[in-house]
Order: sequence, then structure tokens, then C-alpha cells
Amino acid sequence: MSLIVTKFGGSSVATIERFKAIAQRIKKMQDEGNEIVVVVSAMGDTTDDLIELAKATGSKLSGREMDMLLATGEQQSAALLALTLNNLGCDAISLTGWQAGIISDSTYRKAKISDIDTNRIKTELQSGKIVIIAGFQGITPGGDITTLGRGGSDTTAVAIAAGLGADRCQIFTDVDGVFTADPRIVPDARKLSFISYEEMLEMAILGALVMQPRAVECAMLNNIDIEVLNSFNNNPGTIITEVGNMEQDRVVSGIAHDLNCAKIAIFDVPDQPGIAKTLFKALAEGGINVDMVIQSAMRNNHNDIAFTIDRDELPKALPVVEALVKKIGASDYAYGDKVAKVSIIGAGMQTNPGVAADMFEALADEDINIHMISTSEIRVSCIIDEEQTKKAVLALHNKFNLNETEQN
Ligand code: ADP
Ligand code: ASP
Ligand code: MG
Repeated sequence: MSLIVTKFGGSSVATIERFKAIAQRIKKMQDEGNEIVVVVSAMGDTTDDLIELAKATGSKLSGREMDMLLATGEQQSAALLALTLNNLGCDAISLTGWQAGIISDSTYRKAKISDIDTNRIKTELQSGKIVIIAGFQGITPGGDITTLGRGGSDTTAVAIAAGLGADRCQIFTDVDGVFTADPRIVPDARKLSFISYEEMLEMAILGALVMQPRAVECAMLNNIDIEVLNSFNNNPGTIITEVGNMEQDRVVSGIAHDLNCAKIAIFDVPDQPGIAKTLFKALAEGGINVDMVIQSAMRNNHNDIAFTIDRDELPKALPVVEALVKKIGASDYAYGDKVAKVSIIGAGMQTNPGVAADMFEALADEDINIHMISTSEIRVSCIIDEEQTKKAVLALHNKFNLNETEQN
């Protein structure tokens, strides 16, 4: 008998027909003698719809009230799945995140799980029940409801798998696994049988929404293999695992793109020690995450500094930047929100020089201008014009022969 934690994302539970289909799948796993914990997301676009409803009030969106609202989406799904399973003759019980013992900090809308008390889940499993848990939500020690950031049900599933010491952790979605690029953009993207935690983490951070980055981090810390599978078929999926479990490193494993990008440039910043500190501290205090930074070569004791942030944080960032320009004696600033980030990711890059040059060549061949570049040991990212994103992703996929059959 195995203990399986299995998560179904929004598109897998978008309609009652889908609940019926996944209930059959879950019943089969139980009939095969397994103990099952299921984590569910909200139905289809429910979370987006709830956000739009909240915006329509015209109010400033208080994090606490937003989380109270958004958590209802997953709660609906959990109850509907329990009812659907009951109808098949299965004993199932739904639990909210807090009933399932998921404790978080109080960073509303992006809360981090700090602890899991698995007693209730274990008691329900021991009594032979299938346990259905509303994903994406937790409770603060003070008793307030939180949510775990977009895509947070992935993290609920992995954290519960870790807390229970589960034998398997499955993430069911609407594609066959992790692909070499977003299959919605690149028609000949190829499904990877395996991907390392490190590569998956980079891909997720760089825009491959198939897994929430925190879920990958949690799996890596707890050494849990994640299986990413398609809830619409029975095809084999992708296993996210330790690099040592894979036969060989690929030079480039995948391409990611991220449209949630904006660029801000500050001109004629005096070249003095402490200026960068003042600038980035003020942004951090404003809750703004800075991604790439470039500083131009000094001219007349002044530099230009440009950086990127999440596009949805631009309204919060611009007033901070405007105040800073005056404070630090810069001449002006400019921003652009029609930019995107394209990245190549691969553990084998560390030992293969020339990969970045190949990337720049592929972009140049398509007449794509690069605004900014950043690198780590296993990735290279470029900021480009948003309208060229698809062309860039296709060109890079082609350049690194990612549609060719897998070696390992
Ligand atoms: P769920 O609702 O199941 O959580 P998501 O929409 O969060 O599903 O994630 C699945 C989507 O991620 C896919 O439909 C796909 O378009 C997108 N995606 C982006 N990059 C990749 C990739 N490299 N491999 C697989 N899917 C990707
Ligand atoms: N429903 C939430 C979202 O849309 C959480 C999730 O699906 O994982 O982001
Ligand atoms: Mg998701």
C-alpha cells in the first residue's frame, strides 16, 4: 500500500464532468489499495473571476479580505470533489487548508507555509477516508486565512507530501508534463521524461507556470520526486528529481518566457558609494522585487542604472522611483512595460562554453534587439520587446535542437 498525494489544477476541475472524470481516477487508485490525499485548485478561472469581482468594488484591495475571498474558490472544489466521490460509493471528506493544519505566516496573497500539523489528515486516512484538501490556503497563528501566491496549490500538495512522508506526489494538469518550452507557444515542444529540481526551479521562476517555484523548492528541500501528469489522458508524465537520478545533463533543457516584466531606467545617477543601496533599499521597503540590474559605464561621474520588476508592481514602483530621482540627484527616469524576458535553462551549461553566444546569435538572426542580459550557472536571460517573444522562443527552441528526441 502506498500513500499518494495527488493534486488537480484549475483546468482539471473546471466542470462537473471533470470532477466526475477525476473522481473515477481517484477511486481506481484507492481500489488498487492506496491511501489517497487529494489537493484541489479552484474551478477553471474562478480565482481570476474573484479578483475581478473584488476590483469592481472600487476599494483598495486589502490583503486580508482578498485572501478571505480567494480561499473560497478552492473550498468549493474540495466539497464538490468529496460529493462526487461519495456518489461513487467512496468515503471522502473535504478539509479547508486550516482544517488540514496548514499554518502560514501573515504575508497575505503570498504567504509561506511555516508548519503543518498532519494529525487530522492522518486520523481521516486511518478511518479509511479519501482526504480532499483545499489547496492554496493556510491560516496564520492568529487565526486569519491566507493564500499562498498564484499557483499555490502546487505548494500545498508538495508540503503535505513532505509532512506525511508520502510515497508519491503527483501534480495533474492540462498538459502531458514539463515541456522544452510552453507547448501553447511552441507546437513542436517536447515533453521531458525527467528534469532536475534546479532546472525546474529556474524554469518556474523564469515564467514556466506549470509548477509554482515554491513547490519545487519545497520538493528539493525534502527530496520528494514530483510527477507532473495530464489529467485528460493516461500518458507518462515528467519526473522532477535530483540531478544524480538522471543519466546525463543536457546543455539546454528548456526555454522559458515571462510577459510579466517592466523595465525602469534612472539617468545620470551620481557615481558615489551608497547610491545603489539607497535606490534598492527604497524599492525593497516599498515591497518591490527587483530582478535584473545593469549599470552603464561611468560618464562625467554619472551612471545610468536600469532594472526590471514584475509588470504588475509598476504602479507601486513608479512613485518610489520618482521620489528617489530627486533624492539622489539623478536627472530623470523612464519606464517601459512592453518588454518580456526569454531564458534558456540547462544544467549542462556550466561545462559548455559558448551557449550564451549561441543564444545571442539566434536572437540576432531574427533581428531581435536585446535590452538586458543576466546569467546564472544554469541559465541565460534576455529582456526583449514583448511583441517579439513568440519569435524569440521559437528561434531558441530551434537553435538548441530541443525538438529532437531525448537522450536520457
Ligand atoms: P493548473 O491549472 O493545472 O495548475 P497551469 O495553467 O498552472 O495549470 O499550468 C499548466 C500550463 O503551464 C500549461 O497549460 C502550459 O501552457 C503552461 N506551461 C508553460 N511553460 C510550460 C512548460 N515548459 N511545460 C509545460 N507547460 C508549460
Ligand atoms: N487557484 C489559485 C490560482 O489560480 C491557486 C492554484 O490554482 O494553484 O492561482
Ligand atoms: Mg498551476
